[in-house]
Amino acid sequence: MDDLKIIDGKKVSKKIREGLQVTINELKKANDIVPGLAVVIVGNNPASRAYVRMKDKACKALGMHSELHSLEDGVSESELLSLIDSLNNDNSIHGILVQLPLPGHIDEMRVLKRINHEKDVDGFHPINVGKLVVGEDTFIPCTPHGIIKLLEHEDIDIEGKKAVVIGRSNIVGKPISMLLLQKNATVTICHSRTKNLKEVTKEADILIAAIGKPKFVTSDMVKPGAVVIDVGINRVDDKIVGDVDFEGVKDVVGSMTPVPGGVGPMTIAMLIYNTVISAGRRLGGE
Ligand code: NAD
Repeated sequence: MDDLKIIDGKKVSKKIREGLQVTINELKKANDIVPGLAVVIVGNNPASRAYVRMKDKACKALGMHSELHSLEDGVSESELLSLIDSLNNDNSIHGILVQLPLPGHIDEMRVLKRINHEKDVDGFHPINVGKLVVGEDTFIPCTPHGIIKLLEHEDIDIEGKKAVVIGRSNIVGKPISMLLLQKNATVTICHSRTKNLKEVTKEADILIAAIGKPKFVTSDMVKPGAVVIDVGINRVDDKIVGDVDFEGVKDVVGSMTPVPGGVGPMTIAMLIYNTVISAGRRLGGE
């Protein structure tokens, strides 16, 4: 077996951010537009707080406008919806992101639907989900978009390949399946009720693991030489580990993303990308 190729998301995301920096500077200089992102978080989930801080920091580092709206766990749904209304009407804001999950007393879908779909940089509004499915230009959800960018950067052929996605969430599993399908892969989606999972995953030329269970994918589940994308972020003993047993599969697969340093940094880069695209659309009078 050839040596394992590590797919370096840190490096690729840096390149993407450098490209975006040029666009941001141009938007500022020529058009006096500063791309603006508003991130809304409810409650004190430490992982969610860490993610929003990273997003805020990454935007500010590129000279974007970024604002963080931190709401108490007990905030009412109507208060949250009012905040979204005001952000929808704020011309300095081109992207609105509501960090998920929301507390149980708030209807997540009602909140996502309230975001103006033209500012929905997460791509979770049903209008944008529908556009993605029919192949129209839209905001592509950041994590799946980041995965496609990684595969493209590594010159990994998708067309005609067998791609298996483990996980069917709205934020990762479903959209990455749709994107791989658009790139002409033969896509199988697996989930918690899939029978004989191992038999299915072993067929995969490209395996995407988005499960949320540490080291779930083991060496007996992968095809020799496969491309493995590990989306998982799991905290174990104060360390972050992926959904793939890296040490176990590294001698079997052909290339693989590490955790951390794989998909995670790409997600943030694509969030900035969507916000910059949204700001640029302002120029076209859209
Ligand atoms: P989720 O909990 O919404 O979905 C998990 C999916 O895994 C479900 O569809 C479920 O059917 C499937 N699953 C659970 N147990 C299974 C089993 N035994 N066999 C087969 N399938 C099983 O999770 P999510 O939001 O899609 O996130 C998945 C992971 O990716 C998490 O670790 C999350 O933290 C991480 N994540 C990372 C990024 C990033 O930027 N790197 C972004 C989003 C999510």
